[in-house]
Amino acid sequence: MDLSGLRIAVIGGGIGGLAVARAFALREASVTVYEQANAIAEVGAGLQISPNGFSVLRALGLGDAVRDVGVQAATIALHDYRGSRVLQLDLGRLTQRDYWFLHRADLIDVLRRGAVAAGVNIRLGSRAIEAAPGPVLRLEDGAVDADLVIGADGLHSVLRPALNGVAEPFFTGQVAWRATVPCSRGGVAEARVHMGPRRHLVSYPLRDGQIMNIVAVEERAEWTAESWSHRGDPDTLRARFADFGPDVQTILARVDTVHQWGLFRHPVARVWGQGGTALLGDAAHPTLPFMAQGACMALEDAWVLADALTMAEDMDAALAAYQMRREARVRRVVEAANGNAWKYHLSFGPLRFAAHTAMRLGGALVPQRMMQQFDWIYGYDVTGGR
Ligand SMILES: Cc1cc2nc3c(=O)[nH]c(=O)nc-3n(C[C@H](O)[C@H](O)[C@H](O)COP(=O)(O)OP(=O)(O)OC[C@H]3O[C@@H](n4cnc5c(N)ncnc54)[C@H](O)[C@@H]3O)c2cc1C
Repeated sequence: MDLSGLRIAVIGGGIGGLAVARAFALREASVTVYEQANAIAEVGAGLQISPNGFSVLRALGLGDAVRDVGVQAATIALHDYRGSRVLQLDLGRLTQRDYWFLHRADLIDVLRRGAVAAGVNIRLGSRAIEAAPGPVLRLEDGAVDADLVIGADGLHSVLRPALNGVAEPFFTGQVAWRATVPCSRGGVAEARVHMGPRRHLVSYPLRDGQIMNIVAVEERAEWTAESWSHRGDPDTLRARFADFGPDVQTILARVDTVHQWGLFRHPVARVWGQGGTALLGDAAHPTLPFMAQGACMALEDAWVLADALTMAEDMDAALAAYQMRREARVRRVVEAANGNAWKYHLSFGPLRFAAHTAMRLGGALVPQRMMQQFDWIYGYDVTGGR
């Protein structure tokens, strides 16, 4: 299809929304992003962008801007919760080495500037209240005419129920605590996972190693907060992880502000696009953070959706091709993330010991093979190497 002048309305100015906006604007489409928030702002938190997600940023012409604000990851290490190292994965063994630790606010800023530079119009304080095939898009302050409406509006998408029926997201029984603290690790660009009974804690450096990002996940029977995230109490966080080793205690002692997130899921959407509308990112497939792939999947979706429209004869064919090119991969990543929660949280001592021993041996004897098991995720370049 010729995209020049095609009117594209994107609901949501998050990672997926801003990326797809730039992807379409670079193809001469006329793009507006409608973001409900009054400012594009983020709570302090980090993101891991693995090579597959970075490929999209590079193809969008934002590779250098991301490198400028990120920390290039060298290793991922798995530790038992008391501190002993179980496995270290050397990211230098990956064929594509662009694995980055980024502050979310920095990535959003790179994407926002990239979208504006490509001619995208960003309207803040614009909340969508209805979106449906047609396409139909209504904001609080009136209707919008567009040729394609993209729902990049996250877990509470207004478009998703119009395509897939109403289904409440379900609580997974896991709560994530997120914080950033002054860094103490002397510049080692490592993501470290401490795995304990029914809990794990991930830490990695951001912004030249000056701060450390923490995601601490615990299993919990219910999530009673009214919102999906809220301020947490640092002392409660420390108490919940009090039996973890000294490495973790040193980090937790520095926490003075922490946010808690209930981890919720929808199943992967059955219908991703119809009648001039398309879902993308968390709106189509919220993913647990245990493979650090939610934002990367949103970036891959963004590239493929723009590419599918460019390649297809008409809108219906493009939307069908988009879902066909994305669905199987996304389902595999979502399932892998579900599986990791179980592996990290083994609580029965002998079982944990056996699992950790197997990992240790695997890492020592066949390190290359340990990395190859991630090739299907990290080695995949949805842009075809642009
Ligand atoms: C604890 C945790 C750690 C994570 N770590 C990683 C990681 O390391 N790597 C990784 O790749 N992923 C990670 N993720 C996942 C990642 O954050 C999400 O998958 C990603 O942000 C999804 O992007 P999105 O654009 O689809 O949605 P979102 O980022 O949720 O953006 C949606 C946007 O839409 C706006 N919006 C919503 N409704 C409306 C409306 N009605 N009208 C207008 N605007 C609206 C919102 O304000 C928001 O700006 C993590 C997630 C969690 C919870």
